Amino acid sequence: MRGVTFLGDRKLQLAEFPDPTPGPRDVVVEIKASGMCGSDLKPYRANGETSSLGLGRVSGPVIAGHEPCGVIAAVGSAVDERTARIGARVMVHHYSGCGTCRHCQTGWTQMCDAGSTVYGMTGHGAHAPYMKVPAHTLVPLPDELSFATGAAISCGTGTAYQALKRLNVGGGDTIAVVGQGPVGLSATQLAVAMGARVIALDVSAERLNRAKEFGADALINPKTDDAVAAIKALTHRAGADLALDTSGTPDGRLAAVRATRKWGTTCFVGEGDNVTIDVSPDMLRKQLSILASWTFSTVIQGDCARFVADRKIGVDHLFTHRWRLDQADEAYRLFDRQTSGKGVFLMDGA
Ligand SMILES: [Zn+2]
Ligand SMILES: [Zn+2]
Repeated sequence: MRGVTFLGDRKLQLAEFPDPTPGPRDVVVEIKASGMCGSDLKPYRANGETSSLGLGRVSGPVIAGHEPCGVIAAVGSAVDERTARIGARVMVHHYSGCGTCRHCQTGWTQMCDAGSTVYGMTGHGAHAPYMKVPAHTLVPLPDELSFATGAAISCGTGTAYQALKRLNVGGGDTIAVVGQGPVGLSATQLAVAMGARVIALDVSAERLNRAKEFGADALINPKTDDAVAAIKALTHRAGADLALDTSGTPDGRLAAVRATRKWGTTCFVGEGDNVTIDVSPDMLRKQLSILASWTFSTVIQGDCARFVADRKIGVDHLFTHRWRLDQADEAYRLFDRQTSGKGVFLMDGA
């Protein structure tokens, strides 16, 4: 089979790999949809060493894609029927750890004390027709959801869901969501479904228009407006109850902190880069809580899927571009500009 590998310097190739066969505790998933996530841009753009996000070194070419969704095509000899049966619709929680530490046992394998494999980064991912994973990574895909929706939930949308859970978003809250890329737009959509009032921020007019379609109550472009002043003007001078930074930029994070009201909570979910916070005025005087959220557990991934199914949330609308694997070069070149919506590779029959 052929899979997409990042070569760094914005180059990729469809390389030949052997068709995977399951070990005793593995399954092989026939991939139906494989999403593109903002964090894929890091290894895509990397120059020289193609290790990714400080998640560990890779040896040899690795198949990209960490939003896997499909059907089970083969099952290892030690995997029981309740865990995996051929033909079942599944998402993959894209991490694997030791299986015995407390993080692994609670479904947080990305936090494994012994270090974890991140599929699509340090282990073969889903930009290929087939993917071999340990059976414990599987999360059922509800019948109501498309494979593309399952792919989104497998990283970007699931990440937004867990961040909103950490923020304990409620119907009485106003939340500022900084950045309306795939994670930010998912946060807008989910927070609206949870009853919150959303103020959406992005430097791209196209992304702001989409946030409006997804139910944002107010739009702010920090390129043309003073973001913090604009949020205060929308909140009786108090600031937002909650703010979520998905941009991962110093300016975006600082705007999120400064736009949060006294006793409010700010959450960082965007990867990379840095921030400098003036601790006394920006945190202490406001009794501010700042928290950080990194993806989600297997259990939360399942919860997110059921929430999306029960509330009939149009996660499919996140995708502005649907691609075949042999269009990967064009797909990532467009995604790299960070002005469009989310892309997904769809295989036959998805
Ligand atoms: Zn572990
Ligand atoms: Zn991701």
